Amino acid sequence: MLLCNQPIIDRWRPNFSSSGVADPIWTRLRYGKTVLCNSLEWADWSGNPVQVELCDFCGTAGCASGGYVHVSALGETVLWTMPNGVTETDIGEGQLFPATVIEEFGSVAFPVGVWESLRVAAPEVPTFGSLARADGGALRDAWAIGQSRPRAVDRLVPLLRECLVAADSLDIGDAMQWIEHWLRWFDERAASYVEGTLASPESTGSRIETLYFNGPGTADWAALAEVNGSFVPAFNSNHIFIPGG
Ligand SMILES: [Zn+2]
Repeated sequence: MLLCNQPIIDRWRPNFSSSGVADPIWTRLRYGKTVLCNSLEWADWSGNPVQVELCDFCGTAGCASGGYVHVSALGETVLWTMPNGVTETDIGEGQLFPATVIEEFGSVAFPVGVWESLRVAAPEVPTFGSLARADGGALRDAWAIGQSRPRAVDRLVPLLRECLVAADSLDIGDAMQWIEHWLRWFDERAASYVEGTLASPESTGSRIETLYFNGPGTADWAALAEVNGSFVPAFNSNHIFIPGG
């Protein structure tokens, strides 16, 4: 999960000459080199998923086949996650393809203050309070999908069985049980609002448990955090999920 705490907001002018209308001026959101949204003002925020990368030849929502994110709020954080809970069989037909940032990072978290700063640049961006609360499906995707992990969540466990070689303190069998436990926990709440917060390991006195794969070190996954002898999902090494109000 990418933490978007230092967004870059700039104006740019797409070239609409092929569609015979005047070029608009758009407000773009980037993080480093990655474009998160190419038009904060033209994106249609009224639905979910939202197409955050519009066709830059005409600006019509739906003209480009990809560029979608699911937008929701958890605690004091806005989450962008996979546009729809994807299983292996869904990929292909009728699939709304994810935005570039989801392809690259799996999911994005915006602190509420950063989200509100987007509204200063483009008032069309919805208020934090009006966003859908995160359901179990969005949280599962925010956690489980990442750079080196499959975007179809049901392929994660088979991949781990094949490639997981070690964890910081857990043996592989226990690590697998915790992963499967939380996948089930999120799935049981896939379409319901889940109470919970994201907290830092320091503020909760917890320790990140990293899983190691055979293959490049970049594939290592800071998947879990130990809190009082139990394990909870870590969305990244600075954000752990604490269920409950
Ligand atoms: Zn177009």
